[in-house]
Amino acid sequence: MKYTIYLVLIFFVFSCSSKQENPSEIENEASSSSSEFELTKDQIDLAKIKLGKAEINVIQNYIECVGMVDVPPQNRATISAPLGGVVSVVNFYPGDYVKKGEALCRLQNELYIQLQSDYLNALNQVDFLQNEFNRKQKLFEANAISEKDFLNQKVVFNQEKIKVNALEEKLKWAGFNLNQIQENGIQPYLQISSPISGYITEVKVNLGKQVNQGETLYELIDNSHLHLELNVYQKDINAVKPKQVIEFKLPESDQIFFGEVYLVGQKIDPENRTINVHGHFEEKTDMLKTGSILQAKIITSSDSVLALPKTATFEENGKVYAFIENADHFEKIEISEGKSDEDFIEIIGNKEKNKNLNFVLEGVYYLKSGELESSHNH
Ligand SMILES: [Zn+2]
Repeated sequence: MKYTIYLVLIFFVFSCSSKQENPSEIENEASSSSSEFELTKDQIDLAKIKLGKAEINVIQNYIECVGMVDVPPQNRATISAPLGGVVSVVNFYPGDYVKKGEALCRLQNELYIQLQSDYLNALNQVDFLQNEFNRKQKLFEANAISEKDFLNQKVVFNQEKIKVNALEEKLKWAGFNLNQIQENGIQPYLQISSPISGYITEVKVNLGKQVNQGETLYELIDNSHLHLELNVYQKDINAVKPKQVIEFKLPESDQIFFGEVYLVGQKIDPENRTINVHGHFEEKTDMLKTGSILQAKIITSSDSVLALPKTATFEENGKVYAFIENADHFEKIEISEGKSDEDFIEIIGNKEKNKNLNFVLEGVYYLKSGELESSHNH
């Protein structure tokens, strides 16, 4: 570099005078900008000024939102007592894993015995009435009995069949195994089995507890399919489409996880003016638990553009500027700002020209303060 001592003097003259009093030689060089100035090599080193070109960078457009890790409703189960009873066996604790069909607890109640004995009796009765019906049908066909006699038998037989059906439904609904009752007789307890495979989240029973019909016994979650439920503001929702990348993190950590948009909801939450966006994880992780609150970004588009690092630019009165090296001095130029993200800012305009400019990438702050000084009056 060829910055010499006389430039130092000019710099100090420049910085101690108002713009109107600038030496004419500097005025002449300032063709496109009102602020140009020069530094010594030492000053450049001191300010750690680094030059470089604008480069093609991917700038992502995204919307920010918050959300939660959740499971679909079918992966969540509340197990309640189909019939009231006393808890006689309790299996599993919160956090335990159970397989579908495994016994969670047992209930006892006289009512169960009564129901099963009614059922077995009704079954016997149906057998008997079936034989009677067949016998009377033959007699009726041979005109040995009246039609009334035959029809009476038919009604009694059908009534008993209805009774058996009703008891069967009631027992099945309560969770009894009909075959087992028919083969092994009355079961002294009702076994409550898990309807899904998953983790126990709540156990609300203990030995000897009297539970009422419908009372919750256990709560379970199958987290084989954890997903994201994001709340996106109404104003942002049109930009959100399935398959877009979601970047998310837990508020207490810096670790970034990735997912993708799976479904965009259609209904606006009237309270928060948000719409639910359902996302899926890129890969499973144990760090994310059901109910975890998330901060997320949905990447709505990404473009390859000519861009500068944001640290190379600064704002003044709503306009964006950068410094370029022009021959042996620095020049402040206004940037036509395109898209931007956290790190980069797109520069639009004459791409070929912009590509060849030597931008000040580091040390902008130093130049800026020099420039400020140069333009205030003493
Ligand atoms: Zn899902």
